Amino acid sequence: MPLRVAVVGAGPCGSLVGRLLAKRGHEVFLLEEHAEVGRPRHCTGLVSRDVPSYYGMTGKKAHILEEFSEAELIYGSRSLVLKLEPSAVALEREGFELELANMASEAGVRIRFGERVTQVRTNSEGRREVVSEARGMKENVDVDAVVDCGGAREGLAGLQYEVEGNGPSIPQVYFERGIPREYFYWVVPQGEGRYLVGTAGRGAVKRKLDAFMGSQMLKERLEVAKVVRAFGGIVVIKPPSSPYSSRFQGVLAAGDAANQVKITTGGGLAFAAASASALADAINRGDIWRYASWFKRRKNLIKAYAFLRHVYIWLPPSTMEMAFNERMQDYLTGHPLLFDQHWEYFVNSAPAILAALIARARG
Ligand SMILES: Cc1cc2nc3c(=O)[nH]c(=O)nc-3n(C[C@H](O)[C@H](O)[C@H](O)COP(=O)(O)OP(=O)(O)OC[C@H]3O[C@@H](n4cnc5c(N)ncnc54)[C@H](O)[C@@H]3O)c2cc1C
Repeated sequence: MPLRVAVVGAGPCGSLVGRLLAKRGHEVFLLEEHAEVGRPRHCTGLVSRDVPSYYGMTGKKAHILEEFSEAELIYGSRSLVLKLEPSAVALEREGFELELANMASEAGVRIRFGERVTQVRTNSEGRREVVSEARGMKENVDVDAVVDCGGAREGLAGLQYEVEGNGPSIPQVYFERGIPREYFYWVVPQGEGRYLVGTAGRGAVKRKLDAFMGSQMLKERLEVAKVVRAFGGIVVIKPPSSPYSSRFQGVLAAGDAANQVKITTGGGLAFAAASASALADAINRGDIWRYASWFKRRKNLIKAYAFLRHVYIWLPPSTMEMAFNERMQDYLTGHPLLFDQHWEYFVNSAPAILAALIARARG
């Protein structure tokens, strides 16, 4: 039976959930608090080559700026080059999101801009009522089901500068030196002499990023001519606890709203697509427990990523230094990184990583 469904948030996750439901004949309202899709931008948009296809996008529709078959890891004066397979791409994030919203609307989703959902309640007839604020007025929508795809609620503050200049042709990750480490810094080429330089942290992130911008380590690799703009958002670093929204009672959530993020990097576009598809599938089949059991398996995987992040935070500088050696480089050259599956990669690589550390320790 077709349902009336309200989806909170027209980010990548909400647009995909909405489209998958509308395609199956449900009447879908997508409520977005901003006046347009994709702005303000928060994300770097570095994903594996496969991610656009998870959203049903191919060719020009995917809004790819650059493609990379390698990335560089930098620790002090040492560096390692990772092979990436599949390759990674830098997305033109605003265009990517707009495309997704257009695809949703073509499938029949009704997108209502400038409507911020403030409350979801159950009315006297037992139906769900979504209360939103639009231009200072309260609006109500009566629906059978509500889905929260409204993005991250808590995490680290992520900040990045879009700069013009002359720098690397592949993404770079700069690791922090002290322990505990909060995060890392990144430089991601955007094509045509543009780069995103960013980091995340709990406090004073701007100060941290400005210090990195002024550091010799960066200056040696990126010559900044002009800072074009600054933007950022919340980077999720906590594994999910339940498939339900933390802000709307009894409402199922997906994407960042459900902490569906690869916690090692803060990358969430691949996981948002997976959770959107799983949730839409469960609603389409009329079996929400299907989503609950998918979520349980996924929760364990994301916990594994959280564990890897923890290892990174507490790894002593001496071990970090040891890890940047020729034997490790040889291993990485022969074993391309699976961008969306760090966990499997690290598990498979553990013996080689240990061997490289021991070789280094022995001199
Ligand atoms: C600094 C930074 C860098 C990142 N870099 C990468 C990267 O390189 N690769 C990667 O894969 N991921 C990256 N991410 C993560 C990625 O941006 C998210 O995982 C992804 O956007 C999640 O999509 P989403 O649709 O769940 O949430 P969002 O993209 O956050 O979308 C949520 C939408 O809901 C709307 N909304 C929120 N509340 C309401 C409300 N009450 N009513 C109506 N609308 C509402 C918002 O306006 C927004 O449009 C990064 C994140 C940050 C902060």
